[in-house]
Amino acid sequence: MSNTALFPNTTSPTFPAAEVGVCAQGPISNRWPAAKINKSAIVDPFVEGSTRYYAKSTIFWLYLSFLVGVFGVLQTQWFVAFTNRPDYTQIRKDIQESKRLQDQLAREYGLRSGSTPSAGIEIHRDLFNTPQTEEIEGQLRFLLQDDLLQSDLKRAFGYDFRDINAVVFPGWLIYESVSEQAGLTPQGELSVLRSSGSSTSLGFTLRDQPEQQRLTIDGRPRIALNVGAFKTRETLRFALFHELFHAMNVPGISPSRFTFAQNDLTYLTEYRSYLWRSGLEGNRQYLIWLLIVIIPWTISLFCILRLVNLRRAKRESDKMLSGYLSS
Ligand SMILES: [Zn+2]
Repeated sequence: MSNTALFPNTTSPTFPAAEVGVCAQGPISNRWPAAKINKSAIVDPFVEGSTRYYAKSTIFWLYLSFLVGVFGVLQTQWFVAFTNRPDYTQIRKDIQESKRLQDQLAREYGLRSGSTPSAGIEIHRDLFNTPQTEEIEGQLRFLLQDDLLQSDLKRAFGYDFRDINAVVFPGWLIYESVSEQAGLTPQGELSVLRSSGSSTSLGFTLRDQPEQQRLTIDGRPRIALNVGAFKTRETLRFALFHELFHAMNVPGISPSRFTFAQNDLTYLTEYRSYLWRSGLEGNRQYLIWLLIVIIPWTISLFCILRLVNLRRAKRESDKMLSGYLSS
């Protein structure tokens, strides 16, 4: 007896072979398209949210530290030296023309007053007190006796500090109407009050230049020292060293407007090399590099590594998830 004979009216349930095969091998989504699974729904929202937060804060610190590093580079001597190359031919020409004019003014003053202005660097003893005068004398002697410095200057500019005729006077007294005693013309006094006489700087120099109004009565550059210059021996030496360049008629060229840690003479190789050799600036240049370049850019590097790790972890978790869902 056959099954067919026992249940003549019953039709056996049929399962198409093809469909059985799909169930075993094909993707579930093909079989139940309506049951599509939203992957994000099964990712822990806390983990996902905190990863996004870490990524965002890392990107913020990456930008910030990178920009601080860029700002730091703008403060370095290296940046000024790189962007502001001195034109020695022009500098020598400027020095010679100014020196010629100043010598002529000194001769005219001598004829007018009957007393020839003294050569060399004169300290205004009536306006400085004795300890100040002695400190200035000591630091000037130190600088002028440095043969290596003088030979470097002579080679670069045709002049050195020993060729300078100038008068050193206290810058803080300029506000107490000592302009006449200091040998300044009314125009010289005005220019001090307008710009150079900032009490925050260590000093400033007034000098006569061609095609400009006369600032001194006898052509000798006037080096004004502010109170800050007397803070330590090093600050006084630094102030004199800087101002003697100007008294030698070397033009100052301001660095970029984003550079705050360098000055108008940093562009000169001789200026920078003496500062390094003498240690007059202490660890200042090292600190600039360390604190606002190396440390911020190291932080940037760590941020980049962290972002790479976060991205890799995200990719691996995505891969694991899709592997799990497709199994
Ligand atoms: Zn200067």
